[in-house]
Amino acid sequence: MQVIKDSVLTFSKNNKPIAYAKPGKILTFETMDCFANQFRSEEQVVDDLDLTKANPAAGPVYIEGSEPGDIAVVDILDIEVEKAGFACTMGGTGPLADQFKVRTRMIPVKNGVAHFNDVTWLVSPMIGVIGTAPDGEDMPCGVAGSHGGNMDSKLIKKGARVYLPVRVAGGLLQLGDLHASMGDGELCGTGIEIPGKVLVRVGLIKGFELNWPVTETFDRWYVNTSGPSYDVCLYEAAKEICRLMKPVYRWDESDIQIYLSLQGDMEVNQAVRPFSADFMTFRLGIPKRAEKAPLIY
Ligand code: CA
Ligand code: ZN
Repeated sequence: MQVIKDSVLTFSKNNKPIAYAKPGKILTFETMDCFANQFRSEEQVVDDLDLTKANPAAGPVYIEGSEPGDIAVVDILDIEVEKAGFACTMGGTGPLADQFKVRTRMIPVKNGVAHFNDVTWLVSPMIGVIGTAPDGEDMPCGVAGSHGGNMDSKLIKKGARVYLPVRVAGGLLQLGDLHASMGDGELCGTGIEIPGKVLVRVGLIKGFELNWPVTETFDRWYVNTSGPSYDVCLYEAAKEICRLMKPVYRWDESDIQIYLSLQGDMEVNQAVRPFSADFMTFRLGIPKRAEKAPLIY
């Protein structure tokens, strides 16, 4: 099994592929945590770290046969995380930033259970950063955009399928920033940041327009958008899901809008300032319907 390791800090058309994969191939990505594993104890705070190393991603992987206008498909078959991760508060970050201390907590994850003070819960490991290369400017792995990136969706986990727009030859798939657990909104700016391994199957859909990354779960479709405000993200998400629904549902725009108001859920991926000073990320989801074909095929 080919293992893809951290090697980049940006999504870029100039990143050299470190692996090539035919559609259908299964790969393992092995990635450090978002702080490049610099936390070793609770004595360190985030200001002690070299943040120029933050948000490393493993890849990129060149998906053979993919060209601009296609979709890279990523089936997340499994995510295995280490035995402990770190979460921290950061100066000025989060809604109550003026009311707390800067602090780091090491959080053991034993047999799939997180231990925090006197409470425990089942973890649900997820991928914070996943995407393909943009065709324009390079994007740091720490930000999100229409190429994917730091979307921080807790639904991007084992069993999910992620659809990413291919904008350059090969797509250049990369991922990193695993969280053992994260709440929607990521209120202090970190999940349980943790190193680990991700098993994926890559796929390819030829010639299908996709403007934003889509997540397919066992029962729902989600468009993920990012931008400087909720309003921008909502507009982009509504526009894209409406566009994807039209040929499948065969309803006009007005009925689609009514249906979205009844059955669509706008949910927060990550929206904490100033951690994401120029982007927030959201997802707009609709249920899968037995009467309807898949949104993407
Ligand atoms: Ca993240
Ligand atoms: Zn993270």
